Amino acid sequence: MSARSVCIVGSGNWGSAIAKIVGNNVKERREHFKECVPMYMYEEEFNGRKLTEIVNTEHENIKYLPGIKLPENVVAIPNLLEASKDADILIFVLPHQFVKKICDELQGKIKTSAIAVSLIKGFAISEEGIQLISRLISNILSIPCGVLSGANLAGEVASEQFCETTIGSKDKEIGELLKLLFETPYFHCSVVEDTDTVELCGALKNVVAIGAGIVDGMGYGDNTKAAVQRLGLMEMIKFAEVFFEGSKTSTFFQSCGIADLVATCHGGRNRLLGENVVKSKKSLKELEKEILKGQSFQGPLVAKEIYGMLEEKDMLNRFPLFVAIHNICERKMDPKEFVNCLRNHPEHL
Ligand code: NAD
Ligand code: 13P
Repeated sequence: MSARSVCIVGSGNWGSAIAKIVGNNVKERREHFKECVPMYMYEEEFNGRKLTEIVNTEHENIKYLPGIKLPENVVAIPNLLEASKDADILIFVLPHQFVKKICDELQGKIKTSAIAVSLIKGFAISEEGIQLISRLISNILSIPCGVLSGANLAGEVASEQFCETTIGSKDKEIGELLKLLFETPYFHCSVVEDTDTVELCGALKNVVAIGAGIVDGMGYGDNTKAAVQRLGLMEMIKFAEVFFEGSKTSTFFQSCGIADLVATCHGGRNRLLGENVVKSKKSLKELEKEILKGQSFQGPLVAKEIYGMLEEKDMLNRFPLFVAIHNICERKMDPKEFVNCLRNHPEHL
């Protein structure tokens, strides 16, 4: 096949870090990929200038990833259809609450032979309960969609500190193509077929990370935080067993599982939120605006989505950690109660 055209849909903190990797890789792998990488950017003003104009002249996303130079072949485009019209590979990397609208706009407007990969950590809501974002993309656009998820705090990846990630693809050839697109000496990609679990891990660990932040905010130390991580992991595995038949426990030992859980519970934005929910009386929206300045916490939305599903299936008592984190975020439970929930966890019975 001739060189493929790649489009990045999204340009936030992680979107910009991945644009650096992809922009550099396509230049080095020209027999496989076209050199110009359009990046769809949700347009906004920053310091009185359009963010696309800043990115295209200064080659830096000064709002979402300041201090990191982006390759000049990454071109920020505010028009979604223009950015994606020639794409053979669409990389979806934006907060999960915006994906459905973006896919609806793209429906029928992209190449029918295109493939997608989702780097998003969250769920969509469907009539049956939660829906994987990769499936939402695949269903709306009628194209295959793989996933990429791992212990990948964007700032560290952008400054080229070594890390691992997991690519999930049921189709081996697509998996290898995605590895070729993303892998660098500092960004190691493993490919697995258990796509659903790779994606589940990324969404669920954001909820557990809020729990890690809650115990930090309460002044507990590392042992308590380790208990949150262990019990959180047990709930993640149980959730996969109950709702995603065929999920493999071995996938939890990939970067997308245990490693991302640990990284986010120590250095993630969701951990920071948990800590601030304890220390401040402000609403989540206010905290998001104040702490993240335009970036997005994915954990509270996921906690709400899974709470709704567990309630409907009458399974709230089997996932006390997820439930407590949701209730604390909604200000329906005192964070002081959180440690009791760890103490009385069904894993201990
Ligand atoms: P972000 O948190 O920086 O979010 C801001 C982005 O959302 C900006 O690009 C903004 O323009 C865009 N946006 C705001 N309103 C919009 C709208 N109405 N429509 C479309 N876009 C809009 O985003 P991010 O960090 O790139 O995260 C994207 C996904 O990647 C998330 O699911 C996240 O969990 C995941 N992820 C993030 C990291 C990380 O370290 N930041 C690492 C791995 C995975
Ligand atoms: P936060 O959104 O909590 O910062 O997590 C980032 C992440 O997913 C790192 O792998």
